Amino acid sequence: MTVLVFLDPVHPAGRLADASSPTILATDQGVTRGDGVFESLLAVNGVPRKMQAHLDRLALSARTMDLRIPGAGEWQAAIATALTAYAAGGEQCVVKLISTRGPEGANSPTSWVTVTPVSPSVAAQRENGLAVVLLERGYDSDLAARAPWLLMGAKTLSYAVNMAALRHAHSVGADDVIFTSNDELVLEGPTSSVLLAHISDDSGIPVKRLITPHLDTGILPGTTQGALFAAARESGWELGYGPVTPADLLDADAVWLISSLRLLAPVNTIDGQEIGNAETRAALTAELSALLAATE
Ligand code: PLP
Repeated sequence: MTVLVFLDPVHPAGRLADASSPTILATDQGVTRGDGVFESLLAVNGVPRKMQAHLDRLALSARTMDLRIPGAGEWQAAIATALTAYAAGGEQCVVKLISTRGPEGANSPTSWVTVTPVSPSVAAQRENGLAVVLLERGYDSDLAARAPWLLMGAKTLSYAVNMAALRHAHSVGADDVIFTSNDELVLEGPTSSVLLAHISDDSGIPVKRLITPHLDTGILPGTTQGALFAAARESGWELGYGPVTPADLLDADAVWLISSLRLLAPVNTIDGQEIGNAETRAALTAELSALLAATE
């Protein structure tokens, strides 16, 4: 089941539409050029999680590409309408916010919200963990600052490369991808942030340390990573931002791909090499998942 609500000045609460009928013009630049922005968020029992963080990032992505999109209030109204229409649909669902540059020449964005079920494969990833391959992203980790026109760090609709990387991973028997830069730093997954944990230091002394790649590398600032870091700090974890190398991942006690929909998916292997051990992965995943679940 898909619920579809367009943001429409004539309908302040959003305009419900039939998701099974064609509704986007063939000249919409979101369709013809992938020119637009989006967000995917999880709603639990009809309540969207981290709504403000997602609306803030949507606005930032739009600003990065000079796209004028509706304000937070209009998005919130449309999300509420969509979640009400979806009400019968189970305890967790996916809310997608999309805004495109609209039809050629119209100078007016096309904006809509969809609500759909969480795919069963997402639940399986949380449960069973992932086999991951490292793939080259093809740029240096300092490119974002030099080349703002590449829109790095913005969540644009141009995800074809990310999806191709996932298909490549599947074709070699893996589940997911961690991208690396030309200067061999860890970046992010095609649809996730990377997180690693240490529970002892080099001399074996117990620590609780979480590390994620530095945002200067042009990766998307993850709302899940942000929420988890805030919660983990409260419960005594030491937090750090990269640089993270592939060797750091292999050396970690646990590595996860994290995102709004999958939450924490433990990485079992990277390029065939096991990360930590199953018991530690499971215990840390349970601990951090509980911290994340307790956030708004
Ligand atoms: N990095 C990329 C490229 C993503 O597409 C996503 C989410 O889809 C993330 C990171 C994680 O972001 P969030 O935790 O806000 O879902």
